[in-house]
Amino acid sequence: MTETATQAGPTGREGSPGARVELAGIVKRYGDVRAVDDVSLTVEPGQFLTLLGASGSGKTTLLRIVAGFVDADEGRVVVDGRDISQVPVHRREIGMVFQNYALFPHLSVAANVAFPLEMRRVRRRDRADLVERALEAVQLGGYGGRSPKELSGGQQQRVALARAIVARPPLLLMDEPLGALDRRLREAMQIEIRRLSRELGLTVINVTHDQEEALTMSDRIALLAGGRLVQHGTPEELYGLPNSEVAARFLGESNLFRGRVERDGTESVLALPYGRVLVPGDTPGEREAVVVVRPSAIRIRPAGAEQSAAAVSRMPGVVSADIYAGDSRKVLVEGADGAELVVRCESGAPLPCSVGDEVVLEWDPGSCHIISGAA
Ligand code: ADP
Ligand code: MG
Repeated sequence: MTETATQAGPTGREGSPGARVELAGIVKRYGDVRAVDDVSLTVEPGQFLTLLGASGSGKTTLLRIVAGFVDADEGRVVVDGRDISQVPVHRREIGMVFQNYALFPHLSVAANVAFPLEMRRVRRRDRADLVERALEAVQLGGYGGRSPKELSGGQQQRVALARAIVARPPLLLMDEPLGALDRRLREAMQIEIRRLSRELGLTVINVTHDQEEALTMSDRIALLAGGRLVQHGTPEELYGLPNSEVAARFLGESNLFRGRVERDGTESVLALPYGRVLVPGDTPGEREAVVVVRPSAIRIRPAGAEQSAAAVSRMPGVVSADIYAGDSRKVLVEGADGAELVVRCESGAPLPCSVGDEVVLEWDPGSCHIISGAA
């Protein structure tokens, strides 16, 4: 086995084989478009980071800057303490997986996987062993002699993954790697990739527009919108404590209420011309706030039914749709201001209303989240 492929990986790093990646003030402009607009964040060794955002939010551009395919106009990419901004692509110790697999169709599976080893001048007699181990890691042991054309989409993507990890790079970059796969295969591959990256201790930067994929796979999520970093945190933080309307709307379904926080006796209330939204008692009063309530926190009661005595938020409305979704139902309720509210109920329990009925929505103040700094 060669020096390159053994022990702590190509950098000779002690401890975690994963790289530490720091992005500092990255800017990339295309004409008037700021594709990446002053993004700074750190990925710790072994962390799985997902760049999440709508199409055009700058995910691919940022990933390609890390890979070295695109030069940033401003800022630095620092890997393990070393600024690699001037290091050419083939010298960066990075594995890369693209959405379209990018396999060489005329080469065998083994030759495809061996490609990075050739580039790194790993000795020929060591290659076969490394290739077979990489194929085994993606559950394709024994497939080396086949042609990529003989494989299914999911298998081809596994080959691309094997190729990306065969040289044991400390950093793996993936751009929508599962986008072309059907749902079941995608979910299986999400688990697979996560297992593999943990086993190898790799640092991963993954790009997706799929919030579910981001929530299930990541240690950290960086949410991008319009080239800017909106929020960076754990999946739980982004879902449970969105820092802005953009984040609350992007991750999961949410109901947003905007108003002024006022004290009402012992309670803090968001003053709305209709309904009553309680906020946690320690919320500072006399300021504008946006309150986020997730659909599963809301209960539906028929209008006129006895109200619960507890201090809860109440909002009247009319049921406008009832959508069955297997393990849950999604009920849409038109509020007094015409805005549509979303409620998620268990589909097993009978709904106390039907479309067209007047209802009251209730939820506990503790289940709402206030977006801080909302102006
Ligand atoms: P995402 O991957 O999140 O969909 P991209 O990074 O591909 O977003 O693109 C971000 C923005 O930069 C978009 O407005 C896109 O049109 C623009 N852009 C990306 N690459 C180029 C390019 N090579 N030339 C001009 N504009 C580009
Ligand atoms: Mg993209």
